[in-house]
Amino acid sequence: MSGYWLLSSPDTAKNDYVFREDGSSGELVSRQEFRQSTCRKCGKIDEIASLSLLEDHQFQFPSRDLFFSIDWQLIIGESVKEIFELSAGAELEFVPIAANAIKRYIVVPKVLIPVEDPSAYTITSRCGACGRFYEAIWGSSIPNVPAFDNIAAFKMENRIGLHFAWILTDAYAKWLKKVKPRIRGLEFVRF
Ligand SMILES: [Zn+2]
Repeated sequence: MSGYWLLSSPDTAKNDYVFREDGSSGELVSRQEFRQSTCRKCGKIDEIASLSLLEDHQFQFPSRDLFFSIDWQLIIGESVKEIFELSAGAELEFVPIAANAIKRYIVVPKVLIPVEDPSAYTITSRCGACGRFYEAIWGSSIPNVPAFDNIAAFKMENRIGLHFAWILTDAYAKWLKKVKPRIRGLEFVRF
C-alpha cells in the first residue's frame, strides 16, 4: 500500500542525542546513565528498556513541536502528544523526557512493519555478545508495505543503534495535514 514517510527538517543549530554523548576524547559513547546496560562488544544499549532512565536528564532540543534527535528518535511536545493520543493512541507509546524545562516525549511505535522481501533490507552480521544486527538499513528495493492503521514504523539499526522509520496511511496524513498549523516541524513525503 502507499502512504507517507513522517519526516522533519534537520535542526542542527540546537539538537541533542537521546542515547549518546561525546566522550572525553571526542568519540561518541553511551550516556553515563546507560553504561551498565551497554554491550561491551558492540557498544549498543537496550534503548527501549533504558528509556525510563532518561526522566531526569535535561536535553538541549529544538523548540519545535516535532523533530528527530541527532540519533533519529522521534520527539514531540505536549500539543502533538494530545493529537496523537486522540487519533492514534493505540499505535504509539509516549515516554516523558525533560528538555529546557519543557516536557517532551519520545515516541515509541507499538506497531512494527515486517518486511517479507529480504532485498528491502541490507542486514549485516549479529553482535556475538548481545545478538543485535550491527546494521539493518534499506536494501536495493523499496519495501512492500502491508496494510496498517494510521501510523507504524520499521525497526532500523545502524552502528550507533536503534531508530525507527515512521510511516503514515494516506487517510491519517490527510487528517494530520488539516491540523498541521498546530504541529511545527511535521513534514511528509510519499512512498
Ligand atoms: Zn552487542
